[in-house]
Amino acid sequence: MNKTFISDDKGYYGQYGGAFIPEMLRQNVEELKAVYYDIIESEEFRNEFNMLLTDYAGRPSPLFHARRLSEKYGASIYLKREDLNHTGSHKINNTIGQILLAKKMGKTRIIAETGAGQHGVATATVCALMGLECVVYMGETDMARQEPNVKRMEMLGATVIPARSGNKTLKDATNEALRDWICNPENTFYIIGSVVGPHPYPDLVAKFQSVISEELLIQLYAKEGTEDPDYIVACVGGGSNAAGIFYKYINRKNVKLIGVEAAGKGVDTGETAATISVGEPGIIHGSKTLLMQNEDGQITEPYSISAGLDYPGVGPIHAWLAETGRGLYLNVTDKEALTAAYELTRLEGIIPALESAHALAALGKLKLKQTDIVVVNISGRGDKDMQAYIEAKSEFI
Ligand SMILES: *Cc1c(COP(=O)(O)O)cnc(C)c1O
Repeated sequence: MNKTFISDDKGYYGQYGGAFIPEMLRQNVEELKAVYYDIIESEEFRNEFNMLLTDYAGRPSPLFHARRLSEKYGASIYLKREDLNHTGSHKINNTIGQILLAKKMGKTRIIAETGAGQHGVATATVCALMGLECVVYMGETDMARQEPNVKRMEMLGATVIPARSGNKTLKDATNEALRDWICNPENTFYIIGSVVGPHPYPDLVAKFQSVISEELLIQLYAKEGTEDPDYIVACVGGGSNAAGIFYKYINRKNVKLIGVEAAGKGVDTGETAATISVGEPGIIHGSKTLLMQNEDGQITEPYSISAGLDYPGVGPIHAWLAETGRGLYLNVTDKEALTAAYELTRLEGIIPALESAHALAALGKLKLKQTDIVVVNISGRGDKDMQAYIEAKSEFI
């Protein structure tokens, strides 16, 4: 029997998860599955991981009481400030964990996929830190849209390879990375960017991101005399920042877990990325989960203004939390997210990432009471989204 963190021993969360992979990937995935739990649980790994989270990434990230936002929504609202991490989002927690895992496994070459480039930058960063070769696959369309991040990765020493299949975005980059991994099983470690992919990736990525809720328990207790807020709100692309802030609270049933997906132009418009709302069970990138597909089971193209939420699947942990009712999943349009981004900026002086703005926009959809304590995960900062904010400005100011 395999040891795991919160999935069952085959990587399932209820009916979702598992490892649906071609025979040629089996050796790589089995090798990782055999060792990840014991390595991550070893004292040596934990010490190194914690040291880098503290001294390199800048953890713990603050828990900030947003006074003016609280007044506006009539509840006590706290922001978990993942935007203040090195490289600007929660992604660094995961890439530090996976690169240490790769080193313990004796791997010398790192590959990754990236959409907006945030995971690619976080991966290129830890590769520079460790002196390991780094290859990042990125859709050609995304490379054009996110040029500053391409330049950042190159400055960090990574090679960025364009994915030219499909509509040349995240899904296609992931396919290319998996192909690379098949061809280079000996020396290469694949650093996946969210709680997606074949088991054991969702399990180990959630574990690395669980530092967010570990800190929250302590920080909220210090400020409010309770570890448990009434609500925790986080955006869901693949679902890693949400999994991280939900993690320690999954069995604390009095805490409502709210995931927020990108509705794009609206869930009924066909231009959406709200997988839990419109998806059906299927298999994508090695795991069984909800995914957006047509009647023939072909994956349909997602759409959101936010590149980090623009994915046609969702981590199996969220498909399960939604199905069991433990998590409540809402969705927010491009427009609602832009409004929320301007609101936070003007009320609190914090420019959030477009992804995080989706979580903020859900505040207006909850029936909050004056006594409620709400924690919103600010997964990243908005520097990368300035172009979208500038284009939208006339509507909001
Ligand atoms: C990548 C990204 C996300 C979406 O990824 P999850 O795995 O769903 O967390 C959300 N926010 C920011 C800032 C990101 O960079």
